[in-house]
Amino acid sequence: MLLFTPGPTPVPEAIRTAMARPIIHHRTPEFEACFQRARESLKQILKLPEVLLLASSGSGAMEACVRTFCAQKLLSVNSGKFGERFGKIAKAYQIPLTEIVHEWDTPTNAQEILQALQKEPEIDAVCMQICESSGGLRHPIEEIAAAIKGFNPQIVVIVDAITAMGVEDIDTTHIDALIGGSQKAFMLPPAMSIIALSPLAVRLAEQRDVGFYFNLKTELKNQQANTTAWTAPISLVIGLVAYFEEVERLGGITKIYEQTQKRALATQKALQGIGLKIYPKAPALAMTTIFDVDNAAAIMKLLKKDFGLTLAGGQDRLKTSIFRINHMGIIPVYEALWVVNAIEMALDRLRIRSFDGSANRIFLQAYYG
Ligand SMILES: *Cc1c(COP(=O)(O)O)cnc(C)c1O
Repeated sequence: MLLFTPGPTPVPEAIRTAMARPIIHHRTPEFEACFQRARESLKQILKLPEVLLLASSGSGAMEACVRTFCAQKLLSVNSGKFGERFGKIAKAYQIPLTEIVHEWDTPTNAQEILQALQKEPEIDAVCMQICESSGGLRHPIEEIAAAIKGFNPQIVVIVDAITAMGVEDIDTTHIDALIGGSQKAFMLPPAMSIIALSPLAVRLAEQRDVGFYFNLKTELKNQQANTTAWTAPISLVIGLVAYFEEVERLGGITKIYEQTQKRALATQKALQGIGLKIYPKAPALAMTTIFDVDNAAAIMKLLKKDFGLTLAGGQDRLKTSIFRINHMGIIPVYEALWVVNAIEMALDRLRIRSFDGSANRIFLQAYYG
């Protein structure tokens, strides 16, 4: 069975084998060397001065960032479940909140963010996704982050990049806190989160000293000495080092970004070429989301039953009207090619469109052409 869900992603054999080695203790030079390598590799690809690794799923890092970096009022972009989650975190801690709400296929823009900031000068932190995974939507984060900093450099820009880290070369020039998770492009099992920090974010974390388990000041102090405040997610850190070794073996992270982009664009083209509709107005590279109110659920079911393929459906209001195909991670092109072939065959079985091999041809021409 091929797992093609936008998180968790499959764990490659090289990573599984590395994580299967006997567990080592976390307060040892062996683990500390490993931890240092993991953090250094992340700093390098994210181009930010600090990176923290936490034993939690991505939402734990989202919570830590909201609590640490918002002292007055939060502006949050809600174009799906994950944007909504930032708002729920603020409410849980009685942090004043303004939300910009959009349909799940519609990105926000710098202009409406600036309008909100001008209207409410007490906003001191802005939260949003790069890719909102509920609909596979890409927000124009580069323009937005630059606009926020142009307006007021003290406003903290918190970015959930859980489905962007390892997918694309993120411009972090104007980002203060960049959140990642182990189970997406890093191809690890779930339960380790990542927060990369700008100099402003490091300063605020140290000044504010918020919370206990997710106290970023405590973590900074420990992680700068290559250890963690609490028991580290040891196997996941070892797995992350193995991921970076695998990336090096395959020619470096830039090559992974290029291949991810080519797979994503070839998949989009192939599926549009057989009459399917891409859901978001601005699709991210992390996943392809197909909108088909009548057939999405039946297509997914058939793919699982007859074609050995697990895709993800939608959440909440989009539960049965979309399906999502993962592009994150190190995915062999022939597996991605199988996905569009199987979908075309499923459309034939469901008597929606006769099979003629178009998806295969369009994918190959786009990928290799
Ligand atoms: C997967 C994902 C998360 C993380 O959610 P957890 O279940 O807590 O790991 C957060 N944001 C986005 C955009 C995601 O895709």
